[in-house]
Amino acid sequence: MVLQSSPELKPITESPQLIARYLEELNTASLIMSVVHMTGDTSLLDELPTPRTLDVVAAGAEGGEQLLEGGYTPAQVADLHRRAQAAIADWQARGCALPELTPAMIQSLYHFMCGADVDPEYLEFIDEEVALDGVDRRGLQLEAPALQARAAAFPVVVIGAGMGGVLAGIRLQEAGIPYTIVEKNPGVGGTWYENRYPGCRVDVPGHSYSYSFAPNHAWSSHFPLADEIRAYFDHCAQQFEVTPHIRFNTEVVTAEYDEAAALWRVRVRDGQGEESVLQARAVISAVGQLNRPKMPDIDGLESFSGPVVHSGAWPQGLDLAGKRVAVIGSGASAFQIIPELAATAFQLVALQRSPAWMFPNPGYHMEVGAGQRWALEKLPYYSKWYRFWLFYTSVEGVYNQTLVDPDWHSKRSVSASNEAMREALSGWIHSQISDPELLDKVLPTYPPFGKRILQDNGSYLAALQRSNVEVVTTGIRAIDAQGVVTDDGVHHAVDAIVCATGFHADRFLFPMHFSGRGGVQLNEQWSETNGRAYLGITVPNFPNLFCIYGPNTNLVVAGSIAHNAESQVHYILECIRLLLEGEQQSLECRQDVHDAYNQRVDEVNAGTAWGSPLVNNWYKNETGRVTANLPFRIIDYWKMTRHAEPGDFLFD
Ligand code: NAP
Repeated sequence: MVLQSSPELKPITESPQLIARYLEELNTASLIMSVVHMTGDTSLLDELPTPRTLDVVAAGAEGGEQLLEGGYTPAQVADLHRRAQAAIADWQARGCALPELTPAMIQSLYHFMCGADVDPEYLEFIDEEVALDGVDRRGLQLEAPALQARAAAFPVVVIGAGMGGVLAGIRLQEAGIPYTIVEKNPGVGGTWYENRYPGCRVDVPGHSYSYSFAPNHAWSSHFPLADEIRAYFDHCAQQFEVTPHIRFNTEVVTAEYDEAAALWRVRVRDGQGEESVLQARAVISAVGQLNRPKMPDIDGLESFSGPVVHSGAWPQGLDLAGKRVAVIGSGASAFQIIPELAATAFQLVALQRSPAWMFPNPGYHMEVGAGQRWALEKLPYYSKWYRFWLFYTSVEGVYNQTLVDPDWHSKRSVSASNEAMREALSGWIHSQISDPELLDKVLPTYPPFGKRILQDNGSYLAALQRSNVEVVTTGIRAIDAQGVVTDDGVHHAVDAIVCATGFHADRFLFPMHFSGRGGVQLNEQWSETNGRAYLGITVPNFPNLFCIYGPNTNLVVAGSIAHNAESQVHYILECIRLLLEGEQQSLECRQDVHDAYNQRVDEVNAGTAWGSPLVNNWYKNETGRVTANLPFRIIDYWKMTRHAEPGDFLFD
């Protein structure tokens, strides 16, 4: 039997007793995988049932947290732990050599992890995502010297050093393409640099919210706080030597395409207000959708005498302990801010226009245990499978429950399965609230997935029930020097106002000005708030301009934004490959290709809970068109972005 070494693993030095304790903490499905890797014996996969993938409705209805971890019985788990102990001891006794990963074994592992009958269309997708062989199948490696020379003469400007921009830098560097990243902030991290409000944390699991090629085994929480995520991206930028390519404290003001020279001239302004021009063969925008805070348009806001802060621009050192605070908004940001502020404020007025749906998630604030970290670092393939488990359970998980059934007639749900979700989520809210008046305020009447559903461990509704918190659902009429006046004439006197009122999400690439072929202005082509791009990435009339997390690429439930960013950057590099191989100056998406794609996007979005006329949300622009969201399954978008099809473009 050919043996494979596992150099990335740290040696196991713990006692059997400690290992037994650590095993208790682990994700069962990932541990099963690891045991099979250690023993090479796939019969375990026949003995145990396949893990049940995330089914929130069933988990909520049956009260079964076990369902969130694969649905294994305590007896099955205890038996697995005994086998794992033996497998670890045996593996160590064999010098930690691993049995060869044969194609048959890989297939068995895939089929088991994905539920026995994984659709064949997913096999290549899983190969790429989980990369058991350690081969990174994304990005661009240019072997031919002629191509390398062309790449070296193809400077790129990347705008933004958040998740997408740093990733673009890593991949450009790998391809030997010179690049400069222009970043308006003094540091790396994008949204995680900017959002510093109390309680800010990611609401997808940290172990899947990272680059596939740079897993982080050291997350301190399962849903890490903003500063830890910022530090992760900063670390990646340094590790992959991207940092020296970043111009911090510098904003892009305009970008003009010079057709004759096939060059972008990117005007930037530094922290001192000095302007200069960078020349690039291509521009990659990685500014995201949620980076320009939107203040509410309320009469008298400017007359308020105390601090008015936006969640996305939280002043350093702002201390609201002992103060009377109004929080406007009840979206993802307010949901995290309110419990934190309520704990120390003298009084908190939560001004809620529409309540949020929330998923029960007992682990939302939980720290990662020592056992979990031990397994990530020391058990073969555990970290790969754990990341995949977190990702895959969300890939299709609840996608179908977001789709409108045209024969379903209700204002509260869009299909029978959406109604089942509504009942489960309502039950979760009911279980936490006994006051009928408050219940009436916080129980959404719109369909689940009409707005982003938030991760919840009970802390939000507990905060709303504190004696120092008042939930006000009457509309805001005005703000004066002393506080907020609601439509019923009540004056709410406060010392500070927090606007958790969201972002200019429908103004893509705002406030930069892009001038394309023939002087076409991007904001005019997009009518300011109607961003459209082919695959969310390329735009007619704007040669060699690429977007990461551009129009219609936001994910509501299915998949991971980290995965999508990797798909987009891979596609952009494929486009650049076409240019280099074809010795072309530029490529530009064909208008008909772009239009057909966007027609499909609009059709599918219109048939979703978030596209329904029953709901308002930040996914839609002022005309009601969904400009933020990708409506397709993640596997479909992955397929669309695997290869850049030359026929989709006009070349120069
Ligand atoms: P948001 O979801 O757009 O929420 C804005 C809130 O402000 C809504 O409740 C909105 O009410 C309310 N609002 C806006 N203008 C108002 C006005 N004039 N008067 C009264 N209420 C007003 O913004 P967000 O909470 O910042 O979240 C935006 C997105 O950022 C999220 O959906 C998520 O994608 C991301 N995010 C993620 C995390 C995380 O990972 N944990 C945390 C924060 C944000 P209506 O709903 O009635 O419009």
